[in-house]
Formats: sequence, C-alpha cells, structure tokens
Amino acid sequence: MESKDSVCSESSQMRKLLILIALFGFFWIHAQDSTAKMIVVIDAGHGGNDPGNLHQTNGLMDEKDLNLAMALKLGGYIEQFLGHRVEVVYTRTEDVYVSLEDRVKKANEIKADYFISIHCNASDNKEIHGAETHIHLMESTTSSKLAHMIQDQFKNRAARVSRGVKLKNDRLYNLFVLKETKMPAVLVETGFMTNTQEEAYLNSEYGQDLLMSAVFRAFRDYVKEAHGVEMQTESQQVAVQNEPVWKIQVMASTGPVALDNPDFLSVNAPVEEIVIQNPNSAFNYKYYVGAYADKKEAKAKLKEVKEGVFKDAFLVKFE
Ligand SMILES: [Zn+2]
Repeated sequence: MESKDSVCSESSQMRKLLILIALFGFFWIHAQDSTAKMIVVIDAGHGGNDPGNLHQTNGLMDEKDLNLAMALKLGGYIEQFLGHRVEVVYTRTEDVYVSLEDRVKKANEIKADYFISIHCNASDNKEIHGAETHIHLMESTTSSKLAHMIQDQFKNRAARVSRGVKLKNDRLYNLFVLKETKMPAVLVETGFMTNTQEEAYLNSEYGQDLLMSAVFRAFRDYVKEAHGVEMQTESQQVAVQNEPVWKIQVMASTGPVALDNPDFLSVNAPVEEIVIQNPNSAFNYKYYVGAYADKKEAKAKLKEVKEGVFKDAFLVKFE
C-alpha cells in the first residue's frame, strides 16, 4: 500500500515536472515565434513565355511586365516599412516562366503567412475598368477581410473604381493559386488593360505607385490589427539614401489633397505627400515631385514643372 502510494506520488510529481517542461517549452517556442518574422509571398502573375494579357496600345507593357513592376514596388514598401517583422519572398523577380504549381509549392513549403498575387485584367468590353480582389472562398475570413481592406483602399484612397471582392469562380488562374495555397491568399486585379485610360494608368509610374501603396496600406493595417505589428520608425527603416536628395515642392496645404487631382496628374511624375507635425505651421501637408541625387537633374525637372500648373514650385534639399 505504502509503496503504491509512493509510486503514485512519484508519478504525480513526475507528471507535474512534465507539465512544467511542456509549459516552458510552449512559452519558449511562443517567445521565439513572436520574434520570428512573418512571411508574405508576393506573386507577380505570368512571366517568360506566358505574357498574360497583351498590351493594347503600341509601346505599352504586357501584363507580365506590369505585374512584375508592381509586385516589386509592393515588396519594396513592405520591406521598407514593415521589414523588421515581415519577410518578403517573391515567386519571381525577373521575366521568367514559373508554373502555377511551383508558385504554390514555394509558398506552402516556406509556410508563408500571406500570399498576394498581382495581375491586370482584360475584357471584350473596352468600357469596363476598375480594380477587383479575388479570394477562394468567402468563408476564409482572413483572406476575405484583407481583400475588402484592399478594395476599400482602392476606392477611398486611390480613387479607383472598385469592382469589389470576387470569388473563385472567375478564372482558372485565380482558382489554382488561391485554392492550393495553404495560407490566406488574395489575387489583385489592378485594372483593365483593355480600357485605354486604365491601360495608360497601369503603365505609369504614378498609377503603379498609387495602386501598390493602396495594397500596402491595406496589408499594413491588416497586420497591425491581426498581429500588433507597428510600422518601423524612421531610423529603423532601410536607409535608402545617405546622400542629400533634391525634391520639387509643388504645393503645401492645410489638409490632405487627393493625389490623383488633375493638377498633380499634369506633372507626369508621382507626387509624394509628406505630413509634417508642426503645431506652428498651418501647412502641414506638403507635396513633392521627384527625388534627385543630382541637383542639375532636379533643376531640369523643376523648370519643366514650372512651365505647367505649378509656377511657384521650388527645390528642397533633404539630408
Ligand atoms: Zn493575369
């Protein structure tokens, strides 16, 4: 009896020890996890001998090239502002063919947390334009939420026509990468190459910047809400430039100005908004064009800008 009791208590002590070890292990893994970076796979649709939708206007890009240019921009934003917590992995970074199977396999093998595929749309109806985001099933709440946040950004911040969140039944391509990836996945159809205005927009640096910063902001807001990920402080950000940079200030304003207003569009270069936190200044929203390491180049662009709407534009040195 006694020996049985002692066995019993020994085994219960052993159990307690095992539980402690298990708990320790759990917290340890958990602690490791919270410092591990999340992985986002950015997938530039098509490539190589698969051009995707063909350019409609002479001299403009095929879908595969537009997708790649935009995918690299999106990845760049994520690396710059969230790089401390999010690792960016591309399915391709150049004009090569990658099968759908390989794209999916790569994302699944590295156990990516998110998959974002970038495409451009086409239709027989040349009037149709606007951006849409595809997901596999509405029941995937994560994919669905991220997709809706992307569409909100397109509509409310990038002034695009939103065609909403679409389900799997649209196209074979969408079906495969969205269905077979094991993580939340969205496929962004940024716009219609068959609509003349939208094709020009998709081909412009300005349009690509606006579209991809919209996708970036949606992703940033999503990971902040879901994982508490904050943006990097300025000093943590990848140092893009140590040398001084010249920018052309075209406007200062008391409130935000839509980046796609006709005046900004007339500059033919992306306009950057910088918000300054100065209680003594009435004009805390400043708008700049370009970023030139070479002052001569900056002056040449300034001359061009002043010939247009912004007669009072001037150079500002950023160090
Ligand atoms: Zn495509």
